[in-house]
Parts: sequence; C-alpha cells; structure tokens
Amino acid sequence: MFNFHTHHTDDVPCILNCSPDDFLLRQDHERADVAFSVGLHPWNVSADWQEKVEKMRSVTTSPRVWTIGECGLDKVRGDALSVQIEAFRAQIAIAEAVKKPMVIHCVKAFDELLALRKELTEQCHREGRAAQPWVIHGFRGKPEQAKQMMAKGLLLSFCHLYHVETLRLVFSLYKNASAEEGRSRVSPFFLETDDHPFSVHQIYEQVSHHLGVDVSLLDSLCDPRQTIFHQKAF
Ligand SMILES: [Zn+2]
Repeated sequence: MFNFHTHHTDDVPCILNCSPDDFLLRQDHERADVAFSVGLHPWNVSADWQEKVEKMRSVTTSPRVWTIGECGLDKVRGDALSVQIEAFRAQIAIAEAVKKPMVIHCVKAFDELLALRKELTEQCHREGRAAQPWVIHGFRGKPEQAKQMMAKGLLLSFCHLYHVETLRLVFSLYKNASAEEGRSRVSPFFLETDDHPFSVHQIYEQVSHHLGVDVSLLDSLCDPRQTIFHQKAF
C-alpha cells in the first residue's frame, strides 16, 4: 500500500507534501518510508512567489524529495491565473532540471494545463529527451476528461472523492492496454488521502469495492515505486 499524496503521515509508505521550510524541519524526523514532495501550491502564489520558488532549488535535489508539487493552476482560488502560470512554469523547469515527477493541483484550468504540457513535450522532443511524468492529484473529473488527460500522457491520482465511473474507465483502459502489451509500463492510477483525516487503507477498501478487485491487486497496481519511480526503494 502506498499513499501517493498526503499532508499527514500514518503507518503507510507515502509522499508527504511540504513547503521547502517544512521539509528542512521534518526531513530528519520522519520514518524512513516517508518520501517528500516539495512545491509552491497555487493558493500560496503571491507577489513574492519567485523568492519562494528559489528556496525550492537546493531542497529538491535531496534524494528524500521524490516529487515536485503540489503545484499547478486554480481558477477558483488564489492569485491571477497569469501569475499562477508563471510560478508553475518556474516549477516545471525545476522538475525537469532535477528529473522528478510533478504532483499537480488543477481546478477548472485543464485547457491551460494541457497547453503547458504540450509546450513541455515539444521542447523535450527537440532536445531528444522525455518529459517528467505529471500526476494530477485528487482527480474528480468525469470519464471524458480523464480520457482526454490520459491521451496526453498525464497520470491520475484519486482521493476518496473520485467519480466512480471515471475510476472504472481508467481501470478498464489500463486492463485493455496491459492485455495488448503484457504488463503495462505505467501504473493505471495512484491513491491518496490528500489532507483528509483518515487512513489510505480506507481509500484502498473503497476502490476495491467499486472495481470488484482485491486490495492486494491494487497494492501492486497503485504503487508508484513499481512505475514512475523505477523500482526506487526507501
Ligand atoms: Zn494536497
């Protein structure tokens, strides 16, 4: 079992979301199976965002930092979208420099997100390298939107608030792909608690119920250490 995105640790291996300052305070005190994600949340983007992102540079090279984020775009809350885009672009550049996946918060700004992804993949293509994976965390979109995101190579992570039909579609797309290609290289989705006060065990149980599969199957499918982290161990 693995909690892909959380703001509190429990007894499960996880990626704990932190600001750069939090990371420096907590890195030596958390269990060995706690990895970190460091970034500037779009709600916290303000006039001094450059200073905050600058702090990320040295911290994100730490081997304990596995992902960059959560960062992204939010049209409902936070500073002007144009400022959020600038701060997000700066963090994309950091993720590419340190070669780590991104954990993305996106609310009502999926067109802008896809445009930025396209810009990045084109740039990487010109430079002859692959772009780092982007995972949209807490995805609550409908099946059509999930399909659109996956078609552009984006990955999804679900907390307990997912759309059940979306979960079923994502799982069936994965199953079809693995039937054709053998074991698919990429995990179908990840599971997380985000900042909700319960255990990721409950999310695994809920997903297992909705998909009609054993939790043990989800344990391997939803473990990012088997996929985007290339067998990375704690
Ligand atoms: Zn979060």
